[in-house]
Amino acid sequence: MSKIQSIRGMNDLLPQDSHVWQYIEAIAADVLDSYGYREIRFPILEQTALFKRAIGEVTDIVEKEMYTFEDRNGDSLTLRPEGTACCVRACEQHGLLYNQTQKLWYAGPMFRHERPQKGRLRQFHQIGVEAFGFPGPDIDAEMLLLTARLWREFGLSETVALQLNSLGSSAARATYRAALVSYLEKFTAELDEDSRRRLHSNPLRILDSKVEQTQQILQAAPQLQDYLDDESRRHFDLLCNVLAQAGVPFEVNPRLVRGLDYYNATVFEWVTSALGAQGTVCAGGRFDGLVEQLGGRPTPAFGFAMGIERLALLLAAQGGQPGPVADVYVVVAESAVAAGLLLAEQCRHDLPGTVVLLNTGGGSFKNQFKRADRSGARLAVVLGEDEVAAQVATVKFLRDEREQQSVPFATLGAFLRQQLLA
Ligand code: ATP
Ligand code: MG
Repeated sequence: MSKIQSIRGMNDLLPQDSHVWQYIEAIAADVLDSYGYREIRFPILEQTALFKRAIGEVTDIVEKEMYTFEDRNGDSLTLRPEGTACCVRACEQHGLLYNQTQKLWYAGPMFRHERPQKGRLRQFHQIGVEAFGFPGPDIDAEMLLLTARLWREFGLSETVALQLNSLGSSAARATYRAALVSYLEKFTAELDEDSRRRLHSNPLRILDSKVEQTQQILQAAPQLQDYLDDESRRHFDLLCNVLAQAGVPFEVNPRLVRGLDYYNATVFEWVTSALGAQGTVCAGGRFDGLVEQLGGRPTPAFGFAMGIERLALLLAAQGGQPGPVADVYVVVAESAVAAGLLLAEQCRHDLPGTVVLLNTGGGSFKNQFKRADRSGARLAVVLGEDEVAAQVATVKFLRDEREQQSVPFATLGAFLRQQLLA
């Protein structure tokens, strides 16, 4: 019988790689903690209407990437393609935005039916961060400083670069949109098919078309920057100012528009050239209209999401993180298994934060020492019949040229701690 395989674009995270993910998640949780963000968790499945309303009917995600199906009741459900809509839904449902601000983060799988390739999957994972109730550019600036701190912690500051743009108010965007459409209409025949389709549904998205000829047509197109309202311009200037003062390099990219409809004013991406076409590691911006669009009271909001797979690829490319290693390996004779179990427990109690591996599954001493060596442990605790009778363990130094030592069970924890600290 043929074996069942995983679904294309939905990867297993194997044990030899999981520590990299744990490292990313732990650093992110620490940094987010230090800025006062708290974790929120919401379901992976939501009503389809949530994403249609939040992300926009004519976006790539809603048009062709969602995993949507009817459940047994005939309700239309969708595997979440992103977290912001879910986060707003949860906040509204539980009154979290009523007369209060919120700084929240979440992490988990997202689902999009895209063509799988390196750094682009159908089940991928994001860490998302959202702040609600803050209208000013201070939160935009703080969140960008937060992301810059993350890259420093990961040692990726030299690998990623910040691109910024302002989309202005929705009124400013509407005026610009009309100007852009009337310019592009003159070139309808020369536009690529996707852009032609978007000309009247989502013309701003044409700006980040990857098609060379379309980019050429755009050279002389009206610029969004020239249509910004005063408020958005002041907001953006202050943000750029803070970043400059904080020493965070950035580039204003007037073509940066983002693929989701709900953004306004500030948008940004942290990009890298190290991942081929999948260059965006982290992206976000301001979405002041979304809460109201989903039925809540008008609430300013700012947020971003970063892709864990792409981060893990970047970390691997720069040498990766060393995997976990054992500290102590307990080698036991068959007749000493019970004593070994108890002694290993005692060591774990006496040595918090260290990895104590007990040899399980038997084997000759020779084989057990091979396993001890592979585990990376510095110390082996050896238990034979004689040791158990005398209540004294033999400690061997696996990485140093040193005589083995006999250590009474009662003081073994203290002895091992001293050796591991040395
Ligand atoms: P892209 O331009 O690469 O398609 P996007 O604009 O669709 O990205 P967002 O929806 O803003 O991406 O998601 C934020 C981040 O999540 C991206 O910057 C990326 O790191 C990650 N991401 C998005 N889609 C995928 C995917 N299919 N596979 C892996 N990571 C992804
Ligand atoms: Mg995409």
